[in-house]
Amino acid sequence: MDILISEDLQAPAIERLEKQYSVVRGPGLWKDAEGLKTALREARVVLVRNQTQVTAGLMEAAPRLLAVGRAGVGLDNIDVAAASRLGITVVAPLNANATSVAELTFGLILALARKIPQADRSTKAGQWDRKGCTGIEVAGKTLAICGFGRIGALVGKLGRAFGMKLVGFDPFLRPDSAVVRESSARLCSRLEEALGVGDFVSVHLPLTGDTRKLFDKGKFAAFKAGAFFVNTSRGAVVDEPALVEALQSGRLAGAGLDVRELEPPAVSVLESMPNVVLTPHIGAFTTEAQERTFEAVAGDVDRLLSGQPALHFVNFDRPKR
Ligand code: NAD
Repeated sequence: MDILISEDLQAPAIERLEKQYSVVRGPGLWKDAEGLKTALREARVVLVRNQTQVTAGLMEAAPRLLAVGRAGVGLDNIDVAAASRLGITVVAPLNANATSVAELTFGLILALARKIPQADRSTKAGQWDRKGCTGIEVAGKTLAICGFGRIGALVGKLGRAFGMKLVGFDPFLRPDSAVVRESSARLCSRLEEALGVGDFVSVHLPLTGDTRKLFDKGKFAAFKAGAFFVNTSRGAVVDEPALVEALQSGRLAGAGLDVRELEPPAVSVLESMPNVVLTPHIGAFTTEAQERTFEAVAGDVDRLLSGQPALHFVNFDRPKR
């Protein structure tokens, strides 16, 4: 076997790989740790999205594995350090879906500001409730961006186009870096400082040991009263019960969430809150982002299997085993 696909990945670029190489599809394998381990023993490449947990143990039990291909952004399901130690190349086209995620983020911001989902629901139910659908303008408001990387910076650009003031929090960025200067965002040295001034707070952090449950009771208490919270990064950066409490107490006016700690989530009180807009992790689900992602990752898999260096590598451009 050349390639194991352990999730449901469908794209013309993958079909081309299937014509060239011996590909085994196991769309449900990500749920079956033992089955995955057994199948991976034979594979030279494994292709995943975000559900397969590519752990050190899994890779250690895969003697032929040369590369892990991640069709998407966010490496929290791949132990990159272990892959590097084992000489396994990790490829992930990290820029392929930033525009799509930034656009969805702005869609959530506008949906919250103008109560678009409530207006849609009530109008379709036969009401004509203009007063109940009174919203706010985003122009002139402050957008606080937590994590000023690829997606955060693009959200900043969209915010500026809508006339918003920008503040950012990203301790790994220098305040004089080009991305910050170009955005004209004010970079805060403390997260609480950004939270205290944001009318809209948008999260674009990677999920790491430092960011897991970063948005807890204490952080929500630091938000400006009546702010809106948007998360299109990873669900686990938020302590959901603390978010629910902040919404119920009125500290937050609303929330837009594309990502949840558990996906699909268990039904919680969030599902019944009118001021909460939920989407099923669709940030990268546009025709354009999917095509860019699959073309890039399949291209790299083809390159690696034919002995050429990968273009979208995370650790090294060729396997070291
Ligand atoms: P990126 O690496 O370009 O940016 C992340 C930024 O966060 C970096 O600038 C980094 O310095 C900063 N950062 C890291 N740790 C921090 C901390 N503790 N406090 C503050 N800042 C910190 O990543 P990106 O491509 O912009 O992606 C951002 C997030 O979006 C990732 O979590 C990714 O998984 C997620 N994502 C979601 C979707 C979706 O479908 N909703 C799609 C793509 C990416």
